[in-house]
Amino acid sequence: ATPTAVMVATGVGANNGVLIKGGDSLERAQMVKYVIFDKTGTLTQAKATVTAAKVFAGMDRGDFLTLVASAEASSEHPLAKAISQYARHFHFFEESSPTSGTKNAAEEFKSGWLYDVSDFSALPGRGIQCFIDGRRILVGNRKLLEENGINISTEVESFVVEIEESAKTGILVAYDDILIGVLGIADPLKREAAVVIEGLQKMGVIPVMVTGDNWRTARAVAKEVGIQDVRAEVMPAGKADVVRSFQKDGSIVAMVGDGINDSPALAAADVGMAIGAGTDVAIEAANYVLMRDNLEDVITAIDLSRKTFFRIR
Ligand code: ADP
Ligand code: MG
Repeated sequence: ATPTAVMVATGVGANNGVLIKGGDSLERAQMVKYVIFDKTGTLTQAKATVTAAKVFAGMDRGDFLTLVASAEASSEHPLAKAISQYARHFHFFEESSPTSGTKNAAEEFKSGWLYDVSDFSALPGRGIQCFIDGRRILVGNRKLLEENGINISTEVESFVVEIEESAKTGILVAYDDILIGVLGIADPLKREAAVVIEGLQKMGVIPVMVTGDNWRTARAVAKEVGIQDVRAEVMPAGKADVVRSFQKDGSIVAMVGDGINDSPALAAADVGMAIGAGTDVAIEAANYVLMRDNLEDVITAIDLSRKTFFRIR
């Protein structure tokens, strides 16, 4: 392709909300053999909602939700937002709180009802940890609780399994080293996701899903969207290793992601595609930015490259 053709293609891309950083990545896209999709926020809408909340330790439901929301208040994760929203709704609309509506309602609505939290830390691929009144609170997956020596009863385990089998994520909560409850969180697929996966397969491209989420949820989501090859319970650094494993035989690999935890994989891929609504770190690490937050643009990008470079193939 001539420099003019590359310029025209870049312009056509931009008009469709596909920002291409450089002619090299435009050229590589036509040769893509595997497209590796992140799950949360990429295949899914990142509009997670809590669909179940079960308290196990004889604690009041409102207290449980306030504890979890306080712990998650500093997290930017889509799961954290879902939990905060659910707890806020419960606090203000379902529980007859004597304080709500009395003093400064707006201020309380913002944060006044939450507990003070200290020593907050986000643990990538696992969840969060912080302290409330000197007692540790852990919110996250099995791995997080297991690593911290928290006992998971068979009753809790079977509730989590039930959540996961319906393609939802189970979040476990421990307070003062005792498991106090579990939340089930649903994150619907993007409407176009299944059609795009089918379209890629018709183009001879193999779709793969990679996620930090657990195997059971991952398999259920992959089945729904039509992806056969799934890698789950992958830590952020591990996502880049997954990309490299597909590159080993010389295959050209594209990675599509939105999160901070996807950026090493976006950088490792031959073609990194960031969701425009995603985090800045992901956008910086990528060669393509899909501004419309629509997965059809993965196909648009590959098509554009194939058309531009057709003559010299
Ligand atoms: P993905 O790869 O699907 O984007 P992440 O690596 O961000 O997922 O997260 C993996 C898992 O870690 C989540 O499914 C969840 O179990 C846990 N997790 C991460 N952040 C949080 C959080 N703020 N609160 C609770 N759990 C979390
Ligand atoms: Mg993500």
